[in-house]
Amino acid sequence: MADIIKLLPDHVANQIAAGEVVQRPASVVKELMENAIDAGASTIKLVVKDGGKTLIQVIDDGVGMSVTDARLSFERHATSKIQKAEDLFQLNTKGFRGEALASIAAIAHVEMQTRTAEDEVATHIKIEGSKIISQEVTVAPKGTSMMVKNLFFNIPARRNFLKSNNVELRHIMDEFHRVALAHSSINFHFYNNGSELFNLPTSNSRQRIVNIFGAKTNEKLVPVNEDTQVVQISGYISKPEYAKKSRGEQFFFVNNRFIKSPYLHHAILGAFDGLIKKENHPGYFLYLTVDPGSIDINIHPTKTEIKFDDEHTLYAILRSTVKHSLGQFNVIPSLDFEQDQNLETPYNYKDKTAELPRINVDSSFNPFKESSGSGNAPRPNYHKQNTKSWDSLYVGMESNLGKNSGFSSVSFESDTITGSIFENKKELIDTGTTTFQLRRKYVVTTIKSGMVVIDQSRAHQRVLYEKFLKNITIKEAVSQQLLFPLSLTFSKSDCAIIEEIQDSLTTVGFVFDNISEEEVTVTGVPLSVPESEVGIILDQLISDYQQDFVVDGFSQTDILAKTLAKSLSVKTGEILDSDSQLALVNDLFACKESGVSPFNKPIYVTITEDDIDKKFI
Ligand code: ADP
Ligand code: MG
Repeated sequence: MADIIKLLPDHVANQIAAGEVVQRPASVVKELMENAIDAGASTIKLVVKDGGKTLIQVIDDGVGMSVTDARLSFERHATSKIQKAEDLFQLNTKGFRGEALASIAAIAHVEMQTRTAEDEVATHIKIEGSKIISQEVTVAPKGTSMMVKNLFFNIPARRNFLKSNNVELRHIMDEFHRVALAHSSINFHFYNNGSELFNLPTSNSRQRIVNIFGAKTNEKLVPVNEDTQVVQISGYISKPEYAKKSRGEQFFFVNNRFIKSPYLHHAILGAFDGLIKKENHPGYFLYLTVDPGSIDINIHPTKTEIKFDDEHTLYAILRSTVKHSLGQFNVIPSLDFEQDQNLETPYNYKDKTAELPRINVDSSFNPFKESSGSGNAPRPNYHKQNTKSWDSLYVGMESNLGKNSGFSSVSFESDTITGSIFENKKELIDTGTTTFQLRRKYVVTTIKSGMVVIDQSRAHQRVLYEKFLKNITIKEAVSQQLLFPLSLTFSKSDCAIIEEIQDSLTTVGFVFDNISEEEVTVTGVPLSVPESEVGIILDQLISDYQQDFVVDGFSQTDILAKTLAKSLSVKTGEILDSDSQLALVNDLFACKESGVSPFNKPIYVTITEDDIDKKFI
């Protein structure tokens, strides 16, 4: 047989490597910024257009490159950072693989201008899809400017795979945060579509965190410091009461390189054990310094995962150091979250002045229009027993209002019978059904053939979910105006998300007066949302978006309806009075899909008389 093995041409090899190194515009941002840092820059400018799809430019004032180096830098395995194999074990730079520029140049239009301090003139090189288009002499300041245009221009499948500009911008911001947090002594500028998103002056690490995540962050931080033979740890953790539902701000840096480590993350969770609720995530910014010889950075092309020689020791040290800081800064005594209301209200509602109680009137309520009231008062129907607060008075009123307007069984009776997946729905509703609550978790009711056990929380999620979806579709949501506008502080990227989904939020009843870079002013909320939960709900929404629900093909409205339903539903552990139980049962079986929760979990089980009889044999 003839020889069939051939070496891949360089541009093909580069495209293949690009597949690993460059997943999206944010990957380019990371590589270019890291190169600028390795070049010893003291100021780095990042310019982005259209989520990085049209343009990514990084300008630095670092050492620059000679004419020869400028040309060589685009070759694969061209690097100035290692000369011999042993260097790999003493890395103090970000790059070493020498493939970033070659990969980027294979899949984009790249222009580089660079000049060293010794040279009088700069080099200007243009490359498109690995082909050098031009190389000229030009005038430019010392340092390097790398312009990457039309990413994936020659790989349409990859280009089409990119998400919306906003989503890509968010990924870029994440990378930018990581690099900027690891290098507080460097001055960073970030421009997006012509406007300045960040201007981070040279500072210490605490100021850098605050400059990125907002002034309110300062009060949340507890310092962490430990110096051992194995590792030196510095940085900050956020106080347990500021733990958030969204994963948000969790950063590990090892030798000034951002890394992901589920294992070390677990060590932090261990330190916070018992201090925060299970569903909340602690914030941390931790900088570890270890001997470069004791880690292997090579295991991942994008270099975000590393291997430590002695992970177990590191784990133990980290955990006890964080625990120690929590104790030392006296955050532990106020930590009984069963009683401490502050933990429920991370936005300092406690400091607000008292507000007059108010009565909400559903101005769009029309008694002659079927189910017009139903969409807007989901929660009040299931009022809990023993609520003694002022609120409950009004809740009760709303509840009656809701019932009169047909939010109970009546309005649904006719549509429930058709196309039902639950054959006994009719008998369930029209016999004088009795219900009871089992272990504050299930609502049990009888049907002719036996009984149904309903998960109260999932059932309510389903009811609310369908209501919100309906509201969004027919745009009939009613908003309650807040007496005082509510100002909430978020990080810039969180604000960007709120801005992105603002339209959908408005369709369910949120009214925003102003969304600035770090602050959101809310003047109206959906009728069923208590003011104290607005911040928590928005947090949850942001977190759901960050986890890229969108990627799985869910629409914005769907995520919104799901999140609201999850946040506002009756929870396991809540006592429901008998009226509420009955209303819940009726509303559930009035739903289009009463069998599964919005998150695809079963809502109820039926136990037939036969099943029970069998137990007695
Ligand atoms: P690596 O960073 O792994 O060495 P790259 O492909 O990212 O590989 O860069 C190749 C080489 O080009 C670097 O080693 C460096 O010498 C040079 N280089 C890249 N970017 C810059 C820059 N902004 N300033 C100076 N030199 C640079
Ligand atoms: Mg590099």
